[in-house]
Amino acid sequence: MAIKIILAGPRGRMGKEAVYMIDGTADFELVACLDHKYDGQTLGDLEDFDNGWNVPIYTDIEKCFADQKADVFVDLTVPEAGYKHTKAALNHGIRPVVGTTGYTREQLEELKQLAKEKQSGCIIAPNFAIGAVLMMKFAKMAAAYFPDVEIIEKHHDQKLDAPSGTAKKTAELIQEVRKSKKQGHASEEETIQGARGADFDGMRIHSMRLPGLVAHQEVVFGGAGQTLTIQHDSMNRASFMDGIRECVYQVMDLDELIYGLENVL
Ligand code: NAP
Repeated sequence: MAIKIILAGPRGRMGKEAVYMIDGTADFELVACLDHKYDGQTLGDLEDFDNGWNVPIYTDIEKCFADQKADVFVDLTVPEAGYKHTKAALNHGIRPVVGTTGYTREQLEELKQLAKEKQSGCIIAPNFAIGAVLMMKFAKMAAAYFPDVEIIEKHHDQKLDAPSGTAKKTAELIQEVRKSKKQGHASEEETIQGARGADFDGMRIHSMRLPGLVAHQEVVFGGAGQTLTIQHDSMNRASFMDGIRECVYQVMDLDELIYGLENVL
């Protein structure tokens, strides 16, 4: 039996890739899409897709979840909508796989509690690229030896949240093994506000936004007489689809919220 999926954000750059990934996976069936436009139309009515796509589009999440029996809900939208969608999916017994980034710690905690209460699987992953997961794991390994570290994340200029979910997740993983310290000179002063980037437990996170970029990150460690740079680059959004596919399979067997692809693989 195919895993029935509702996808939010089908017209977006990630969403479009996900439509084709779902269509190209024999075990998956795309039963409906959620958007904030084009209610009552089908994917085939949109100029982004050809006529053959007979998948209904809903703007009303309650109606969507009531009309369409789905196993998994995939969200690739914007933080505010994604948070509401994820809560609604859990309340309807549909397992969320969320790629949307920008949730606060409080929102994540609330969703974790809700998933526990509903005994429902839910995966939220700020980065579905398997190479990015390895970058985070390697960075955590290195941080045990190099406590001085700066994260430089680079994304396209349409990204809404900064720093990226991946940068925050990397910093959290590093924090687990790094002895807390404030980096740089004790008396350092910013002559232009923000010059030293965001402060996360004394380490610095810098966010670059430029057209032409997709999703890139460098984690730079410094020690006496040496530096170590761990770098990952997503060249296009296809790089995220293997991770989403894997999470759709895995979420079917979970009864709690898992945050981060590294905890799924
Ligand atoms: P995008 O191209 O801007 O797509 C977002 C889509 O969501 C657009 O079609 C947008 O429609 C739609 N949308 C906006 N508000 C909505 C609402 N209330 N309900 C339903 N749909 C709504 O962005 P993207 O690059 O595809 O990225 C989507 C999300 O995935 C972002 O949060 C991004 O940070 C994240 N992301 C995650 C990963 C990962 O590996 N986890 C990788 C890349 C990106 P309009 O254009 O009409 O506003």
